[in-house]
Amino acid sequence: MTFDTLGLAPDLLETVAREGYTEPTPIQSAAIPLVLAGRDVLAAAQTGTGKTAAFVLPLLERLRPHANTAISPARHPVRVLILLPTRELAVQVEESVRTYARSLPIRSTVVHGGVPMDPQVKALWGGVEILVATPGRLLDHLGQGTVKLGQVEVLVLDEADRMLDMGFMPDVRRIVALLTSRRQTLFFSATFSDEIRRLAREFLHEPETVEVARRNSVADNLTQALYPVDGTLKADLLVHLIREEQMAQVLVFTRTKTGASRLAGHLNRRGVPATAIHSDRSQPERMRALEDFKRGDIAVLVATDVASRGLDIEELPHVVNFELPWDPQDYIHRIGRTGRAGASGVAISLVSPEEVEQLRGVQRLLRRAIPVRVAEDFLPGRGRRDSDADGAPALPPGGRGAGSRRPAGHARSRTAAIAAR
Ligand code: AMP
Repeated sequence: MTFDTLGLAPDLLETVAREGYTEPTPIQSAAIPLVLAGRDVLAAAQTGTGKTAAFVLPLLERLRPHANTAISPARHPVRVLILLPTRELAVQVEESVRTYARSLPIRSTVVHGGVPMDPQVKALWGGVEILVATPGRLLDHLGQGTVKLGQVEVLVLDEADRMLDMGFMPDVRRIVALLTSRRQTLFFSATFSDEIRRLAREFLHEPETVEVARRNSVADNLTQALYPVDGTLKADLLVHLIREEQMAQVLVFTRTKTGASRLAGHLNRRGVPATAIHSDRSQPERMRALEDFKRGDIAVLVATDVASRGLDIEELPHVVNFELPWDPQDYIHRIGRTGRAGASGVAISLVSPEEVEQLRGVQRLLRRAIPVRVAEDFLPGRGRRDSDADGAPALPPGGRGAGSRRPAGHARSRTAAIAAR
């Protein structure tokens, strides 16, 4: 497959070649013709799949007939609106727009919070065809009348799951209400919860669905492993693994906020510097924790799925699933934090007998078994019946008793058997 067959004009093909792209990524092959045809698209794609070019290139092609060099802002109404959840992502996408639009007289700008309005107002008054924005700041501009969206032909909702997690959907709805219903809408999300599907139905009109697997990094440079473990011994096993594998920077996922806090406490008491981030902590607190982690002052960041999504951490040597998520998609999302950009990564899951169902769901989604590693001292059945392993989240009712009574060998083979399916 080459870019030539996708319907892009020669100057855009030249730009693509100059970027060093020799062939389209799967999301580009699938989405570019659909976007050119004016279809609504619902795309399951994560960062790193080439999704930005998958919508920017065909949108530039579609804007081409309107591109002109007229000076009057009135001749440059916003025709494409791209919404993103964070300032970093918005800046990054607008940079891509500029790069890909190099050969065209098409203007773009980015508006996001945390910086003064004035320079943004000036850029908007100058007239732009493509506006990249975070929802809150865009509403501020709409409130002040510094931008109008009446002529928007295409809306792109990028990182829709993160927008949902970060609470931006009411803002997004208010913005969408200002757009014509005849617009084209492109909806990108890394995960597809029921809520995301509902939103897609709300915003899209007879969409084409495009799904691409995450880049092959799951197979290529990411090592996955699972340890069958007694639920009461998980925190101890984690300490053991952190020491044994000399993990200096590890993101640990728990299912609940209280589980995250308790685990961070346990790790600290055992001499492993750790902190928990979850939605009960303020944004500044979370940012401070993240900075400490990035600097290497704390080795372990314990997070819930929701809290982790707003965080700008993409490349990590180790990810640990202290508990498997209820939604198998979250497993993919979690382990996607490691093994990126050619770096090697390790994703370890601590799986107690009570989590066999979740494991089955994850392996069904992966279409493969996660290799099992055994740490003898921590196998199911080795747990303390009397004490609550400090920091270990409580097992479901009856779970601990069942785990303790089961002979180690039996439990081990059960988990391993499911893993091998
Ligand atoms: P994205 O998923 O949009 O964040 O893109 C991830 C990275 O892939 C960016 O650095 C792009 O420059 C790069 N990229 C996009 N399309 C291609 C392609 N067809 N071939 C090689 N690299 C690409």
